[in-house]
Amino acid sequence: MVIDNNFPATLQKAVKHFSDELVCINIVASMRWSNGIAVCPNCKKTETSFLSTRKIWKCKACKKQFSVKVGTIFEASPIGLDKWLLAIWLLSSAKNGISSYEIHRAIGVTQKTAWFMMHRIRLAMAKGSIEKLSGEVEADETFIGGKAKNMHKHKREAIIKGRGSVGKTAVFGALERKGRVLAKVIESTDRKTLHAEVKEKVETGSSLFTDEWRSYRGLDADYIHEVINHSIEYVRGNIHTNGIENFWSLLKRTIRGTYVSVEPFHLGRYLDEQIYRFDERKSNDKERFIGVLKAVSGKRLTYDELRGYQTSG
Ligand SMILES: [Zn+2]
Repeated sequence: MVIDNNFPATLQKAVKHFSDELVCINIVASMRWSNGIAVCPNCKKTETSFLSTRKIWKCKACKKQFSVKVGTIFEASPIGLDKWLLAIWLLSSAKNGISSYEIHRAIGVTQKTAWFMMHRIRLAMAKGSIEKLSGEVEADETFIGGKAKNMHKHKREAIIKGRGSVGKTAVFGALERKGRVLAKVIESTDRKTLHAEVKEKVETGSSLFTDEWRSYRGLDADYIHEVINHSIEYVRGNIHTNGIENFWSLLKRTIRGTYVSVEPFHLGRYLDEQIYRFDERKSNDKERFIGVLKAVSGKRLTYDELRGYQTSG
């Protein structure tokens, strides 16, 4: 058993544990293949032999050779699994995110490589399917980036109250109280868009809490819709959107404090990162690490898909 009581629970122990490449290979194998038994990516057969000097498998049926990295976020990466696993540990446990510069210094790869690795890790953090939220659900939108933070306070507030978007990217979010959060980049905060988002993410019949923004009007037929008017008050009994607003403030702290600026093209992946840590907030570092590692398979992101959009964070 690769994941047992001896599995590292701290960063210090993780560094030591992951220093053995064979240990790393066994960890990844146990996460991506059932019982850790290698499956040939070419013919899907499990009769293989492990070539211990090169640390790869050879399929007895089709004779193809493959490493544990094939078909995962690690595919075609020359970076060793020791560094990959540490990067996953650091990103999944850092409450306010961790910049590619920090990863570059901590594990000894270039900043550019660290940046690319982190986008692949965010891909593993992304939830594959959307299971709808239910019960008491708060919905809201926010704006990320742009130049509003440099504006005079009153002007900024006017823009934000008016749901304006001077160079900003709109994000919709829904949070199940005491539960999960879902968020994604949206094109507009108009009624059509927000109604579609709510219906896609929130189970019909749930209690829905929003602020007074007019785009939320007309959802009463499908939801028990309660509105808190922020120009008057922020809480009335259980009517508030404090949960999703707390998520927004965590997200903004991460983006402003750690990533500094995020291109709209990449924002979705930073959202995935923040959502992952938020949903796993009651887990410990080891559990958050294992959760990401279990999702490395079947996901690919090539450098070409990101090139041209590279930013510093
Ligand atoms: Zn094969």
